[in-house]
Amino acid sequence: MKGPIKLNSKILNGTEVSKKIRNALKSEVTELKQKGIKVGLAVIIIGDDPASRVYVNRKKKACDEIGIDSFEYALEESTKESELLELISRLNKDQTVNGILVQLPLPKHINEENVICAIDPKKDADCFHPINVGRLMIGDPEFLPCTPSGVMELLQDAGVEIAGKECVVVGRSNIVGKPQAIMLLAKSGTVTVCHSKTKDLEEVCRRADILVVAIGKPEFIKGNAIKPGAVVIDVGMNRTKDNKLVGDVEFSSAALVASAITPVPGGVGPMTIAALMKNTVKAAKLQFGIS
Ligand code: NDP
Repeated sequence: MKGPIKLNSKILNGTEVSKKIRNALKSEVTELKQKGIKVGLAVIIIGDDPASRVYVNRKKKACDEIGIDSFEYALEESTKESELLELISRLNKDQTVNGILVQLPLPKHINEENVICAIDPKKDADCFHPINVGRLMIGDPEFLPCTPSGVMELLQDAGVEIAGKECVVVGRSNIVGKPQAIMLLAKSGTVTVCHSKTKDLEEVCRRADILVVAIGKPEFIKGNAIKPGAVVIDVGMNRTKDNKLVGDVEFSSAALVASAITPVPGGVGPMTIAALMKNTVKAAKLQFGIS
């Protein structure tokens, strides 16, 4: 029988840090209510993907806790793209809705780009709209993409200095890897982005003072790819055959080498939801002209 995992690393506890953020947001939402402003988030889910359902339920629970009104639109898998665009158009005009999110992935017959572009950039709680992505790129963001922003908050909470550090991001998706690289660069990290065509991935990872892994491959990065003392952020969320949730990093070997590491679950996941809540409150303030 395996014994308990020996840890040399500090655990970056996303559950605790996200709670602090949610508490601060709760106070802010209460103050807004006293000024007659109610904050609302519309969540659209299409089809019955079990993972999407879990994420949507978590987002609704966070809204309830903070005092944000959540409006769920659960649409059939067969919903036409035109019907979805029509709903988004209505929500764009609805004053009780400050943030709109469409849970991804979408069914194959719906074009993701058309849907993302249909959301009013001022209500873009996920920060996926090209206008908001562009603003992030030029260093003038209105909203921040939720997962990378959650990672940055975790690093900040742990007092991790980024300026001048070797930062390696594994994964280049529009949702995680690319914006993560931009955000680390904005904090003056020296950033390398890896992907499925990267040669000698382990060697590149071993250069990292800060390693962020977002590839969707269970326990792919092992301790031997980590520089002693590195800070390791595991974004991955993968289900094993026995239904266990694991990250993209093998925690047992990585935790022996890293100085700090996020667990899965309880690391980046709750931070992503806190960042979504933050964007929603910001959207409401923008729409009501409060800075
Ligand atoms: P995508 O599938 O969109 O992107 C995966 C990226 O990983 C691609 O850039 C791909 O490279 C790269 N990749 C795949 N295999 C390898 C490999 N063997 N070596 C190096 N790079 C590789 O995934 P996402 O970015 O959406 O998500 C990544 C993970 O993060 C998933 O487990 C997802 O569930 C999780 N996630 C967690 C969130 C949270 O809140 N904790 C939020 C969002 C995602 P290429 O571009 O060359 O194909």
